[in-house]
Amino acid sequence: MDVQGIRKEFPLLDTKINGNPLVYLDNAATTQKPRVVTDALLDYYRTLNSNIHRGVHHLSQQATDAFEESREYVRLFMNAAKHEEIIFTKGTTEAINLVANGFARAFLKKGDRVLVTVSDHHSDFVPWQQACLQSGAEFDIMPVERDGTLDLALLEEKLALKPKLVAFPHISNGLGLENPASKITAMAHAQGAAVLVDGAQGIAHCRVDVRDIGCDFYCWSAHKIYGPTGIGVLYGRQEWLDKLPPYQFGGEMIEEVDLQQTTFAALPFKFEAGTPPIAEAITLKNALEFVESIGFDALREHEAQLTGLAIDGLRRIDGTEIYGKEEGHSGVVSFNIEGAYHYDIGVILDQLGIAVRTGHHCAQPLMKHLGIPGCVRASFAIYNTQEEVERLLSGVKKAAEMLR
Ligand code: PLP
Repeated sequence: MDVQGIRKEFPLLDTKINGNPLVYLDNAATTQKPRVVTDALLDYYRTLNSNIHRGVHHLSQQATDAFEESREYVRLFMNAAKHEEIIFTKGTTEAINLVANGFARAFLKKGDRVLVTVSDHHSDFVPWQQACLQSGAEFDIMPVERDGTLDLALLEEKLALKPKLVAFPHISNGLGLENPASKITAMAHAQGAAVLVDGAQGIAHCRVDVRDIGCDFYCWSAHKIYGPTGIGVLYGRQEWLDKLPPYQFGGEMIEEVDLQQTTFAALPFKFEAGTPPIAEAITLKNALEFVESIGFDALREHEAQLTGLAIDGLRRIDGTEIYGKEEGHSGVVSFNIEGAYHYDIGVILDQLGIAVRTGHHCAQPLMKHLGIPGCVRASFAIYNTQEEVERLLSGVKKAAEMLR
């Protein structure tokens, strides 16, 4: 793979931080954007800007076509069965809130259960916790093993308690481990539970086929996969989306408004109240085309190679503890150095131009489960290089020497 060629598409990577060339290893938080995306955003505002779905004029129709083409591209990208099953949202968080809010209002009641995992991002954990508090349903939490994996025998026991819904991350953002999504979904369905997959990390690191996974909902954010912020996707099986009540009310989502009551528009518009982030939705397609032009096989191989190098190197630094099982990290390595505070390591790395994330990574239940206040997380993307991994390792060595 021509990594140097790919890097040319990302001008921001040429930035210097504190006099050092930037090493951007905070990709699990957000990826950088290729020129095809930033150019398309500018082009949209220069040539196409118009509100969609309600204009008879030329620009509005063109913008509407581009918006719906992007939705169709997303459908094909995820192998969803129907155009109507792709709902544009602000991102993963809004997509999950949309479903959790609908469940709390329409389906959950006292005596019901919802099952999540302890490795869930707060964006999947808190909406379901709150939905349970509102509805009186039981909030059940699957622990993970010390190596971050799910014990499927224990899962079977939890599922025997008949939760109405099971939510889990496709790939956890704290440890970067992929859950067996199709298997978990089949096990949950066998017990009558609906399944929501938090795909915020999954979408960027593996080929997602929602029909193969078989899940009822799959949620993700464009900014994690080289696209713009402010736009994300809720995939939902039509049977569920038809039953779920609208999340927000306003323009675009209505069929008929009378003085005392309103009927709602058909899918997908029922869940898309108000003017959406049009430019972002349209240019999301450019980001997905960019990923397709590289291909998931090449992307996965490259990320696995970098992650493997980082894990090997970190193991050789005295006092380093790496979280999660030995292999199979999807572009994420989380670690601590004995006797050093994770935040201080991040500050030293930043002085060297190396951007990593420190803290609880919006996964406080997981950190508590691991018995740590937080950790350092380096996360890799398609444009990272072996030299950058080496710079990370020498930065961590230096931090270890300074802080211990
Ligand atoms: N879920 C996971 C696994 C994530 O990694 C993230 C973001 O880091 C989210 C949910 C929330 O995504 P967003 O902030 O784009 O809504």
